[in-house]
Amino acid sequence: MKTALVTGGAGFMGSHLVDKLVDNGFFVVVIDNLATGTWDNLKGYEPHQVLKMTWDITEYPSEDVLPLRDADVIVHLASAASPVHYRRLAIETLRVNSIGTENALKLARKFHARFILGSTSEVYGDPQISPQPETYWGHVNPNGERACYDEGKRFGEAMAMEYHRQFGIDLRILRFFNCYGPRMQSEDGRVVPNFVRQALENKPLTIYGDGQQTRSFCYVSDEVEGIYQAIVRDNLSGEVFNIGNPEERSIVNFAEAVAKIGGVSLRTEFRPLPADDPTNRCPDITKARQVLGWSPQVSLEEGLAKTFAYFKQT
Ligand code: UDP
Repeated sequence: MKTALVTGGAGFMGSHLVDKLVDNGFFVVVIDNLATGTWDNLKGYEPHQVLKMTWDITEYPSEDVLPLRDADVIVHLASAASPVHYRRLAIETLRVNSIGTENALKLARKFHARFILGSTSEVYGDPQISPQPETYWGHVNPNGERACYDEGKRFGEAMAMEYHRQFGIDLRILRFFNCYGPRMQSEDGRVVPNFVRQALENKPLTIYGDGQQTRSFCYVSDEVEGIYQAIVRDNLSGEVFNIGNPEERSIVNFAEAVAKIGGVSLRTEFRPLPADDPTNRCPDITKARQVLGWSPQVSLEEGLAKTFAYFKQT
């Protein structure tokens, strides 16, 4: 049986990845400080399937803390990901993406494990080209309100790449684009939970700015399949992949889709645009298609319907 260590595995995306790994025969050790995750996302697992450790990866886990002799793969996902949460946890976000990333890399070095770095489309900042290929260096405010996340992730990429260059770590960097689905927290402030909750409560959907900014939404099972392909395929060390859905839409258009799928008539309320909110975001996934054999399969209609069903029952 293979062993995976997942930091941030009690969170939204991490817990779906843990499910996928267990389904595919992995024993999974999860390290999470529960800043934005919850063990409720991993209910029902026995310790021989999923070992749950409440621990902050910014502290290096010594052998008496982490009862693990070996790991085949380490997936570093620990970080707040919602702009509302990473503003609230700004210094923690910088620390987990810098010190936390180095600690996870040290573990990968110790165990000779493959290393998957969960990065983000935010490394592109407010992109000046669209769609964004992996080769684009980005357009980022280094000290603005989103810098704790954007620059934290950029530092993490630089650190991981140096561990790859200097110590031969078998590294894959994945940049996720606006992942959504069940287990998102209804109050996390991102556009998907906000609009779905507002539609369910028959309230106006809150559009920030003029709503002409674009995003590309990827359903969580697609995103997790992309991570899984990057975990199991060989000969990818040092490679960077965009993992997202290239179907780009404006926030106004997204509000229309949410209202339609939620079965409500669209009512909107315009609010000020947060600082440094990117004007556009769309992944070029040519590389993931060709090298990982991966592309998203779930339509926005299907993904949103499942998200509505989840929010209705919680
Ligand atoms: N947004 C919005 N209404 C909301 C929440 C967010 O119009 O209630 C906008 C936000 O300004 C951004 C986009 O939706 O342009 C996506 O925001 P989110 O926080 O989900 O993620 P981001 O892509 O900005 O990290």
